[in-house]
Amino acid sequence: MKLTVLYRGPLSSCNYGCEYCPFGKWKHTDEELAKDRADLERFVAWVEARTQDTVSVFFTPWGEALIWPWYQEALVRLSHLPHVERLAVQTNLSCKLDWVPRARAEKLGIWATYHPEWTKRHRFLAQCTKLTELGVRHSVGVVGFLRFAEEAESLRADLPADTYLWINAVKDGQEEPYTAEDIARFSRLDPLFPVNNTRHPSLGRACRGGESVISVDGEGTARRCHFIDEPIGNIYTPDFDAALKPRPCAKQTCGCHIGYVHLEYLELDRVFGSGILERVPAMPLWKARATAT
Ligand code: SF4
Ligand code: SF4
Repeated sequence: MKLTVLYRGPLSSCNYGCEYCPFGKWKHTDEELAKDRADLERFVAWVEARTQDTVSVFFTPWGEALIWPWYQEALVRLSHLPHVERLAVQTNLSCKLDWVPRARAEKLGIWATYHPEWTKRHRFLAQCTKLTELGVRHSVGVVGFLRFAEEAESLRADLPADTYLWINAVKDGQEEPYTAEDIARFSRLDPLFPVNNTRHPSLGRACRGGESVISVDGEGTARRCHFIDEPIGNIYTPDFDAALKPRPCAKQTCGCHIGYVHLEYLELDRVFGSGILERVPAMPLWKARATAT
């Protein structure tokens, strides 16, 4: 079976302090970090044992995970497993990249978010250049607050043309809703912005969440996705696979890339192909825009 796991352990801290984020500048105790590390170790061992499957793992931490060596080592270790297909991670890209050469770089995908209030553009770009040199596929994005628009435009101008830059639409928390001009401005930077700026109707629709895509926490509790709280089982129980079955979505809408890309009717797997987790389109952007409508 093909299985994609979105892993989110107890880690919920970050070395940056974005004012709109509850995890900014939060510090864990040593005990909490040890727990996160132990949970991750157990999860990695579970993936290692699923040799009968083709597994992809997407690390979607609440805070910043890649600054911690145990996440770096997990990626290195998992990348060498023949039955692991893709490994992706969401990160602010502030970490060192000296661990990457020990991993199978062609399996790694990085979803890198640029936070102009917490790093300099040239530093962030230098990290992106390193990823390219190391052969790691990555997308780069900015949270779509209007105050970041100018910096996002500068980043777009400085990035190589073939690096996809996404803008994460702010659907709540923006002082003013986007105007038509704002949408046009962000869409010039990210032709797929209108897709992300939509809460896609999902109630009763077929979604791969809960069947071939699951969300797993540090205790092994599995849910169909990060957005529906009801557990479907625990991966560490022997009969867990029986829980993997088609389930229509139970929410009215799905508005986050890491969720709606698995909604069958949107067919976004055609747009993103093997880059679906790290958000890298598999086709030129003009074609991606046309295919996604
Ligand atoms: S970098 Fe991400 S996790 Fe860290 S404070 Fe900013 S938004 Fe939150
Ligand atoms: S459509 Fe979104 S909310 Fe519904 S099951 Fe899929 S990922 Fe979850």
